[in-house]
Amino acid sequence: MLLINVNIVAKFCKVKMTKERLCLECKGKLRGRKDQKFCSDYCRNAHNNKLNEDANKYVRRINGILRKNRRILEKLNPKGKETVDGITLAEEGFNFHYFTNIYKTQKGGIYYFCYEYGYRKLENDQYILVLKQDYVK
Ligand SMILES: [Zn+2]
Repeated sequence: MLLINVNIVAKFCKVKMTKERLCLECKGKLRGRKDQKFCSDYCRNAHNNKLNEDANKYVRRINGILRKNRRILEKLNPKGKETVDGITLAEEGFNFHYFTNIYKTQKGGIYYFCYEYGYRKLENDQYILVLKQDYVK
């Protein structure tokens, strides 16, 4: 086997050996500017999409829960005001951990909103369902 030292070859060829730069996505050779990281827009997008994938998955999951909550409140509250019990909400698959905003009344009541549909817990596992009013920011 013939072994050739790369540096000797480089010296001989009068070529400055620079570290080969490769596209972060497809590992293809880069021929552009020194700070170039990708060979194409396609590769840059593909790479960034992979990085964002986990974050996007999480965001999609939470958005899905919020939309489902909203759908349930809309279904159970077609007239804009309704009282239901917690079991009904739970049976529909309502997730109490997620809401878009909170409104506190001056008397200390707390309304939880999923977009424009909201609810407030009453006594005995009862919930009053409301539709967003203009005073709710
Ligand atoms: Zn590439």
